Amino acid sequence: MSGSVANLARWGVVPYITAWSSEEMLPVTFVLRDGRLAYADETVVDRDGAGVLWTRVGFSPGVGVPEFKSVHFLRHRRAMRGRLCQVCGTPCGRSALWMLSREEYESAEGPWPAPVMTAHPPVCPGCVERSGRLCPHLRDGYVVLRPRRVAPAAISGMLYGPTRAGLVPAAAVTIAHDDPRTRLLSAAQLHVTLEDYDVVSLDSMIVTGSRGA
Ligand SMILES: [Zn+2]
Repeated sequence: MSGSVANLARWGVVPYITAWSSEEMLPVTFVLRDGRLAYADETVVDRDGAGVLWTRVGFSPGVGVPEFKSVHFLRHRRAMRGRLCQVCGTPCGRSALWMLSREEYESAEGPWPAPVMTAHPPVCPGCVERSGRLCPHLRDGYVVLRPRRVAPAAISGMLYGPTRAGLVPAAAVTIAHDDPRTRLLSAAQLHVTLEDYDVVSLDSMIVTGSRGA
């Protein structure tokens, strides 16, 4: 049992959405059902509320070694949908913050602050400082946003195409969440748009600017 205790200790310092080496892709059989990509043995947890099919992956956080460059699809989606902190997994509710890298906020179109699309789930106020220190993509600088309105924007995943040989992977895509092609998508990652938010300063959490309706 000492192994699992050590793993639990590590689990405390590994971000909630990080994938672990034990969490492998599961073998699946795809079929077309009612014109949609489906699993032969599909269950209710395989689709989200919008009817999008999600890629199946094992769920065993804390077992094996953390793969810091990989995101666990299901925990990522839970964090996005449920406003869970991507680091500690705690529900953030209205205190959810989004951290954008220098690259992300400099690429925002239109006058800043402008609506921004991101694939990163929120962070709770208590995890901001640690994220800024530990996340490689934030090391060159970042801004912290506190949104009032967050909307689903796009989904990344693999599009499947029906062929004579069956359903085959056709293209890795990122498409609008309401694109009709989501019917043939094995979804992996949800992107959201922060439509209305305050820009929060890091030290004092004082609002330094805002955009809103
Ligand atoms: Zn947190």
